[in-house]
This record gives sequence, structure tokens and C-alpha cells, in this order.
Amino acid sequence: MEGVQAGITVKKGEDFSEWYQQILLKADLIDYSPVSGCYVIKPNAYFIWEQIQAWFDREIKKLGVKNAYFPLFIPESLLKKESKHVEGFAPEVAWVTQGGNSQLAERLAVRPTSETIMYDSFARWIQSHKELPFRINQWCNVVRWEFKHPTPFLRAREFLWQEGHTVHATKESADEEVFTILDLYERVFSELLAIPVIKGKKSEDEKFAGALYSTSCEVFLTHGKAVQGCTSHCLGQNFSKAFGIRYLDDKGNSQFCWQNSWGISTRSLGIAVMMHGDDKGVVLPPRVAFVQVVVVPILFEQSKNEVLAFAKQVEKLLKHCRVLFDDRQDYTAGWKFNEWEMKGIPIRVEVGPKDVEKKQAVVVRRDTGEKQIIPLDKLGAQITSLLELIQKELYDRAKAFLTENTVYAGSWKQFEEAASKGALVKADWCENSSCHEKIKEKTGTKCLTLSLSEIPENNCVQCGSPAKEVAYFAKSY
Ligand SMILES: [Zn+2]
Repeated sequence: MEGVQAGITVKKGEDFSEWYQQILLKADLIDYSPVSGCYVIKPNAYFIWEQIQAWFDREIKKLGVKNAYFPLFIPESLLKKESKHVEGFAPEVAWVTQGGNSQLAERLAVRPTSETIMYDSFARWIQSHKELPFRINQWCNVVRWEFKHPTPFLRAREFLWQEGHTVHATKESADEEVFTILDLYERVFSELLAIPVIKGKKSEDEKFAGALYSTSCEVFLTHGKAVQGCTSHCLGQNFSKAFGIRYLDDKGNSQFCWQNSWGISTRSLGIAVMMHGDDKGVVLPPRVAFVQVVVVPILFEQSKNEVLAFAKQVEKLLKHCRVLFDDRQDYTAGWKFNEWEMKGIPIRVEVGPKDVEKKQAVVVRRDTGEKQIIPLDKLGAQITSLLELIQKELYDRAKAFLTENTVYAGSWKQFEEAASKGALVKADWCENSSCHEKIKEKTGTKCLTLSLSEIPENNCVQCGSPAKEVAYFAKSY
């Protein structure tokens, strides 16, 4: 079978988008479907999503969030109830106009997000301050009919996500939750996907349609572009006023509720692949890898049985991890090495005749290619700590890259220079739309997010008027 398996034909640094598409297919993460922009998420990728789901679901339940499910279809009249919301989503809504052979009386939107269908119910459900805060989440798919060039995970027409929708008596309670959730999202990226994020507040131009304010985790990718990882919005009272979601306070007065919505999607899978992958393929962070350790026997005719028996013993010693014993005999060891490297399995354990004799195994890291020989009696414990080390070092490398590539621009000249080099540019900014347009036009970068903690010391880097925020700019995916 040697030579059948084709490697990746382009380098990550040379043609990023071609590289990305190739590794997704060759590492068996996605498949294309007959509908442009809609992708099959294959088991190796879906496993990552399951890890995110399990972790995040457990954390939000600790906060009192309950899971529910709302219908996929939203009547047009409901979608239109909050004017800014519908304006923001209208261009990418997919509509159902017909059932069988008959025209529907009212067309139905395939949910692009569920604020409107949920809040129609919330208005009937919520009565008293005693029920608040009220917290609902749903795990589901959404459809946004993108017209830009579709990209698997990053810009797909249908994707999976969770959407949390909560109702509060006060703005303080809503505000607090926005940032609690943002912190959880940061942990999904850092602790599971080994990715450092920039937490911040979106500018007025970039906030969610219908929100009072939006926060997000932004990820600076290794090739000088950034991407929004997830969002946590405070909706203020915009939707409660449009939908009539009120509660009676302790004095018996009717009050409009404060609301939040927040979501993380399968886009995070694409971000992880882009961040850690290399010229050999995917590099999976151990905590989300469908297989953490693959055991590959090196077989020769005379010693075949001994080596297979020994490798089986090695597999048993590693049962505390997600281990796979690759005992296929119609593929060479070299072919298997390439395959598991392509698929991003964090650790490969090789055993050959010499290892049987010496009661040892050769352990190879996917991320660095580093090889070490470990005696059999120490293997179980050392593999456990090696998996942790790989997880940590993937994060550390990404963090170092982020730090090295973040540039503060004190003048417009510095801004242009940093932007042309693909840096993540930090600058004092006025937050005006017209100024933003100029920045986009001149540098191709846009405001990703506003710093949550820093205060501007100088005037706006572009127009020179008083600065309101310290902002991050980059090209965005
Ligand atoms: Zn300005």
C-alpha cells in the first residue's frame, strides 16, 4: 500500500487556505456535501465538539442554566419584532415558503439565531421577580446564508452551536453574567483547545444586531489574520420591550426585564485546526483528540508474533488514555506513521524487535517530532504527563506567537507599518464609524475588539480626535 496515501501538497506558510482545505479532508475531519457551504462533520471532528459540549454544559449547569429546545422555524412576523435585529439578519436568512405543494400563508425563517422565537415564549412564562434570573440554553444548528466564499467551520451556511438566553431583573445581574460566560468561553479555548484569546468588547459598528453591547473572544491566527471565536451579548431591554417581557417587582410594579444571549459554535473547531496544524497535517490538543496515543508495531516476518504480543501489552498499559493499537498488517509502519501524523494524534508509540528485547518503547510527539525511549514499567505514568505537557506547550507556543505579534501603534505611520506586516495592531481609537471606514480602506484591517481594561493615553491613531478606547485591529477571517 506504500505510496497510495497522498500527503499535503502545499505548505501552511505558502497557501494557507489551500492547506486548510487539504488537511480537513485528508485528516478525515469533514466532507463536502451537495449544497455549497454545508459540510459533513466527520467523527474525528465531531469528537472535538463533544468535548466542548460536555465541558461547557457542565459549567453552565453549575450557574443554573437549563437546556431546552425551540423550533427550527420562525414566523416572519416574529423575526421582525425587534427592528435592528431583523435588519442585521435579513440578508442571510433562508426562508421556507412552501409545504408540499401549497404556499404557506406566512413564510418561515430557518433560525439564524433564536432570540425571537424564544422571547415570544419568555413573555408568557415570566411573571415575577422571584423567577429571575431565568436561564435557558439550547444546543442546535443554525442557518446563515452567507454569500462570501464559504469556508468549512469558519464560514459555513449551517453550523452547530449553543445559544444561551437569560433574563434578569437588573442590569447589574445581566452585566455580571455576560463576563462570567465570557470567562467560560476563554477556558474552552485555553483549557481544551490550547488557544489564547483576546477578550474584549465589540465596537458599536460590530456589535450584535439588537444588542446593548457585545463582548467576544478573538483569536489571532498564526498567519496574521484574526477571527471571532464566540460572543456574549447584553441585549439590554431592547427585546423585552419589543416582546413585552415583564416581571412584577417586590412592590408589585411591572418592569421590563434585562436580557443576555451568548454562543459558541463549531467555528471553534476550524480555529483549532488552523492554529496548531503544520505542514504534515493536523495537530490535535490531547484533551480533545479522539485518539491520544497510537501504538504502532514494527513488523518483520521472524519476530512478528513477539512484537504483536508485546504491542498488545503496551496497549493495555495505556488504557487510562484514549489509546489505539494499529495492528493492521496490510500497511507498513511508515505508512501508518504518516497517517497518524496527518490526523494529528498527539503521541505515537513504536515497538519493534529491539524494544521487545529491552522491554521499552519509542515515544514520538506529534507537535515537535521529539523522540524518547521509555522503559515499559514507566510508560503509563510518563505518557500521562507527556499528554499534559503537550497540551501546555501547544498553548504556550500560541501565546508566545500572540505576544510577539501584538504591536502598539502610537502613530498612523506605525499603524500602517504593523498592519502591512500582518501584526495584531493595538491603538488608541475614537470609535467613530467614518474613522473605522478609513482604517479598513487604508490597511485592510478592522477593529476586532476594544480592550476591557486599558484606557487610551493619546488621541485617535487615525483621525487625531480624542480617543475613547484602546482597540485591537487585524485582518479578519
Ligand atoms: Zn478616529
